[in-house]
Amino acid sequence: MRLLSSLFIVLCLVFLGFLQPALAVNIGSEVVVPAARRGMGKNGAIWHTAVDILNPGHDDVHVTLDWLVRDQANPNPLSLDAGSIAPGETMVLDDVLLDFGIEAGAGAIRVHADGDVMVNGAVLNTGDDLEYGQSFEGIPVGSAIAAGSTTHVVGLARNDDYRTNVYLVEAAGHDATATVELLDMLGAVVGTKVYELGANEPVLEDVAALGGPDVFAYAALQIFVDEGSVIVGASRINEGSGDPLTLASWWQCGDGGGHDAHWGYCCGMSPAEWGYLGEENALCKDGFAQSPIDISSCGAVAAELPELTFAYGAGVDLDTSNNGHAVVASVASGDGTLTIGDDQYELLQFHFHTGSETFLDGQDFPIEMHMVHVDGEGNLAVVGVFFEIGEGGHSELADIFSALPAHAGDVGHVEGFDLNSLIPGGRTYRFTGSLTTPPCSEGVAWNVYATPLQLTQEEVDAFIHIFSGEEFPDGNRRPVQPLNGRVVQTEAN
Ligand SMILES: [Zn+2]
Repeated sequence: MRLLSSLFIVLCLVFLGFLQPALAVNIGSEVVVPAARRGMGKNGAIWHTAVDILNPGHDDVHVTLDWLVRDQANPNPLSLDAGSIAPGETMVLDDVLLDFGIEAGAGAIRVHADGDVMVNGAVLNTGDDLEYGQSFEGIPVGSAIAAGSTTHVVGLARNDDYRTNVYLVEAAGHDATATVELLDMLGAVVGTKVYELGANEPVLEDVAALGGPDVFAYAALQIFVDEGSVIVGASRINEGSGDPLTLASWWQCGDGGGHDAHWGYCCGMSPAEWGYLGEENALCKDGFAQSPIDISSCGAVAAELPELTFAYGAGVDLDTSNNGHAVVASVASGDGTLTIGDDQYELLQFHFHTGSETFLDGQDFPIEMHMVHVDGEGNLAVVGVFFEIGEGGHSELADIFSALPAHAGDVGHVEGFDLNSLIPGGRTYRFTGSLTTPPCSEGVAWNVYATPLQLTQEEVDAFIHIFSGEEFPDGNRRPVQPLNGRVVQTEAN
């Protein structure tokens, strides 16, 4: 145990919230470090956990720590008297589990102080010349998610490059239940798990435990706490180094709303009401760069724009589904890449709206397709393509539109699909916008082709049939949104 009096080494808080970056300094007298470990690592070195505790106040604080063993209730946890910390000083516990007398174990640490402290934990593996590790900010118990509340964690990935862990710690000393859902880019639930926790029970596991796709470049968690009080979060880990390396670990407070997170196109859940269906959807009503828009072809500003370069697979497998909001075709990781200038994006999925969400010179089209791409930092690029009715239809899409998943939850599969057939070529309109569905996240690079592709009358009718009736008074589209001074650009020649 060492005491350092410098403030600057205190907290290495790595917050990489992609859609809404969060940077917080969290102070409390009861603080939980959600993950801690000691044991043998792959390279033969020992994983250990360091904890730093800063006293930011003007009086000494006395600190005790509890060891919470993973995957079990800890009604009477092992306790460690760590002593006092002078004002402005940081207590550094280099190998805190050894201080508890624990040679090997996994769990969480709860810090009790008689004044406010800031806490940071780091799980580290010190090899010959490298130190691998993952840091976890101490989360004040007052920030736990209470029963009836919801929280979201964004920026998950699961592929060759990354894996993501989810963690939960019961915070109030009695039983708790939380439902953790894995949401895809459009907010559809693709995996779920109910966690029943005992008193002071910590859990940390790979999001694979929720089910869902084996591979995804972007997903979010939605967590409902049904009973008790739970600290919850996630961390994304780079697989490249063999041993884990922290890229992101963060948490968000509950909104306290106890609301129903569902949304739709009618009946109290319509686009005009999305912004009121939970704090996480506030941009739907408060945003200034929302999509879709009505594009004025003569108002578009001619500019030297980087080409859209597609490296799309010509014989890929697609999983189609009806997620209750749209028909979605999901693409396997690596099957489609879009390069715009220096930015490289991976195709996640494409889906269809009726009528078109984007208008061109005040006119809509029967159907619009959105191809959703994401880069390595979670930035989104959408390619929009209009469809008009034409006798020839579309040779590749006929496979999807001849067997549309008609009801929410229905799925299908298409093999040997040529993604290149989805790109009309020619003029594009480019602007900055948002997701056209909750949470209406902004900063999306929009690229809409001027030239429509074609579907047959029958195919269009079949699609409209699915997204009509009481639930879809104007199809599955959001109305056009104000430009608010945004400029639409198009190619100069
Ligand atoms: Zn869309």
